[in-house]
Amino acid sequence: KGALNVEKIRKDFPILKRKVMGGKPLVYLDNAATTQKPLAVIDAIHDYYTNYNSNIHRAVHQLAEEATKAYEDTRVKIAKFINARSTDEIIFTRNTTEAINLVAYSWGRANIKKDDRIVITEIEHHSNIVPWQILTQEKGAKLEYIGVGDDGYLKMHEYKKYLDSGKVKLVSVSHMSNVLGTITPINEIIKMAHEKGIPVLVDGAQSVPHMPVDVQKMDCEFMAFSAHKMLGPTGVGVLYVKRELLEKMPPFMGGGDMIKEVHKYETRYNDLPYKFEGGTPNIADVIGFAAAIDYLEKIGMDRVREHEIDITKYALDRVAQVKGVTIYGPMNAIDRGGVVSFNIGDIHPHDLATIMNDHGVAIRSGHHCAQVLMERLDVAATSRASFYIYNTKEEVDVFIEALSEARRLFKI
Ligand code: PMP
Repeated sequence: KGALNVEKIRKDFPILKRKVMGGKPLVYLDNAATTQKPLAVIDAIHDYYTNYNSNIHRAVHQLAEEATKAYEDTRVKIAKFINARSTDEIIFTRNTTEAINLVAYSWGRANIKKDDRIVITEIEHHSNIVPWQILTQEKGAKLEYIGVGDDGYLKMHEYKKYLDSGKVKLVSVSHMSNVLGTITPINEIIKMAHEKGIPVLVDGAQSVPHMPVDVQKMDCEFMAFSAHKMLGPTGVGVLYVKRELLEKMPPFMGGGDMIKEVHKYETRYNDLPYKFEGGTPNIADVIGFAAAIDYLEKIGMDRVREHEIDITKYALDRVAQVKGVTIYGPMNAIDRGGVVSFNIGDIHPHDLATIMNDHGVAIRSGHHCAQVLMERLDVAATSRASFYIYNTKEEVDVFIEALSEARRLFKI
């Protein structure tokens, strides 16, 4: 289908018309944190509240039926989007964080025992570290980290060594780093774990929005991602769980909607996946998410990925030419997603982001919820520009111009 028509895409995003900082066009380069929403998503939420707001699954009246159908239609679209075998394997959560916690509290509590090992990596987001710390501390188990090299690639020999210990019960790895951009060798990681019968959780928060992801091909047991990083609303996450495991998992949260029958001292739980969706869910935003998936499907995830490789290559080349710059992560755009983290001399990333903001450029500065990685890189913080389907090379130029201005101000 060829390259993306970015100018046409931009027209679908009302916020991109905004001026900031006294009239500067908004250059939004903080997409790894959250993406902007196309009108179709905003309209879908507006339409739900305007025309068929109702609770789902219970009442028989027309509004409830319409709302239930729209909510469940999103589940069908997600299953198709990641190629799950069945909608029973798709659980709605609030975000990636809740999805990973669901696995830790449900599967983890039932399966992890004293002296077991859980393997993660040094590039993980806090949401794929802290739940495992809580679990291993509770169980007297141990957390092991696959290290990351200075080049931004995982040290696979360390992984092999952990697997050979015979004590590993779970591997939980990010598919793409939100700081380094590194795309991890997820197929190899999963294959190696499966040779030892170990299940794998994939943190897909940064991969599912940016490239084609097929859970059957990948063959992971669990995958987590967030709607808000892929044009969808905040407050909606997805947990995919392979059916064989999901059937054996105890419920995470007890309450309404996750039950079939409740008696004084016992409960029969609902069918999959409802057993894991206690309470009234975020109906409006799940419905909005369907419009985001439609939007991405229409473009095609292959083309989304191609656009990001193109713009990341361009950005990497240009940032690398800035004097005094350190870029973190793989220098080959094919091995990374659309994220460029860097530091310039000893300019503090927050000061840099403030100067960027003066130019209308929105980038992120800080530890990016990856303090284990910051310790490994021996920095307190980095600046990060991250791209999506509506970003242009002209915007990268504005960003580079602002970087040069910052260098002049700080006399680097
Ligand atoms: N994992 C990764 C790799 C992420 O980038 C993020 C979001 N920055 C998360 C997990 C957590 O996502 P959420 O805040 O939506 O739970």
